[in-house]
Amino acid sequence: MFIPELYNLFLQFPSIQTDSRKIKKGDIFFALKGDNFNGNAFAAKALEDGAAYAVIDESQYATDDRYILTNDVLTTLQLLSHHHRLQLDIPVIAITGSNGKTTTKELLIAVLSAKYKTYATEGNLNNHIGVPLTLLKIKQDAEIAIIEMGANHIGEIASYCKYANPDFGLINNVGKAHLEGFGSLEGVKKAKGELYDYIRKFDGTIFRNADLDYLEKMSQGIQKQITYGTSNAQVIGRAIGDDTMLKVVILTSGMEVQINTQLVGAYNLPNVLAAVAVGHYFNVDIDTIKKALENYTPSNSRSQLIEKGSNKIILDAYNANPTSMKLALENMASLQAENKWLLLGAMKEMGEESVAEHQSLVDLAIQLGFQNVILTGKEFEATKHNYIWFATSSEVKDYLSENKVEHATILIKGSRGSKMEVALEAF
Ligand code: ATP
Ligand code: MG
Repeated sequence: MFIPELYNLFLQFPSIQTDSRKIKKGDIFFALKGDNFNGNAFAAKALEDGAAYAVIDESQYATDDRYILTNDVLTTLQLLSHHHRLQLDIPVIAITGSNGKTTTKELLIAVLSAKYKTYATEGNLNNHIGVPLTLLKIKQDAEIAIIEMGANHIGEIASYCKYANPDFGLINNVGKAHLEGFGSLEGVKKAKGELYDYIRKFDGTIFRNADLDYLEKMSQGIQKQITYGTSNAQVIGRAIGDDTMLKVVILTSGMEVQINTQLVGAYNLPNVLAAVAVGHYFNVDIDTIKKALENYTPSNSRSQLIEKGSNKIILDAYNANPTSMKLALENMASLQAENKWLLLGAMKEMGEESVAEHQSLVDLAIQLGFQNVILTGKEFEATKHNYIWFATSSEVKDYLSENKVEHATILIKGSRGSKMEVALEAF
């Protein structure tokens, strides 16, 4: 079936489902393949459960005209999302980068939805399936859309741009994340830079952090740029005070306000400034921006502040890589607190540099003078230090349940695979 025909069906049945267990009446089921499953095999069940159509790519499953046979279901989904995108006459903002994409996206949603009907990536659905599904969820009443794009290989962002056609691009930063797939930091730059390449080619606009010199280099040749940062930018803001919660003053004339966020960590400053810059560009007035940003509270273990008994816990167990770990440690070091603890889980997907990166992190903890540190995971096993080490976070929990920590400020951070949130149960 050709995409325009399928698109007509989609207009009648605009809800797409890729999980056969979640089918609702009138969904179109897309039978994707994974490493361990073949969606084609679930198409009959999806139809039985109420799906209007099932898009499949193995002919033996097509037993009646509710089956739509394609060459490849995933490609069909992506092409359909592109077709849909072309019908939408709205600004589309794409966000990528190594750290802080989801946080920045959520802040942008907060700010833009105060004025516009805003559609955006739900949660962290930022991959080759999540991006097209996000596009296909955008309804006719949309006034603006924000798409998070994640990548762990060269070429991915370029391919997402081909069907999402962003008019605006925002690269948060380029750090050491997913080094396994990218090979090196240069590889990460190239991969994230594919967003700028697309914007450059189609004369779009970028929102750029002026504090990061490499972004300026990467953005050469892009005519329309809105900059934000701590100095020398169109939107200038700085972090003030040393509270656990980030406070920001915006110093750009006409926008002088203080924003008391509910975000932990100075590393959220660029995320906040990005949201101010985007909001300002789209004519959201500064008081509305302030209110939206002050009301936003993060969830899903992303830099949450949790008070338990006499302890203040910064839970950041959603992901970790050398760049975000470094910033989190520096942030802890800068806090005015007496009894500081670090419960650090291993950083995953580090490839060949894993041992060296874990050692650098330990060295940084030593250098910053942290005394109470618990390292978790085999990736730390070979590192040199005098800290406590456990293989798993449940051992950390057991240890802390027996050796109570009180009146402390505690950072819990690690890659999702390290499951550091388990340690929280000890408090
Ligand atoms: P993912 O790759 O999982 O989609 P993401 O880029 O969407 O991650 P977030 O989920 O927003 O990132 O944030 C994850 C963690 O990254 C935060 O909890 C924080 O520790 C760190 N972080 C957030 N913003 C920044 C930033 N601007 N610079 C460095 N680290 C950051
Ligand atoms: Mg994310």
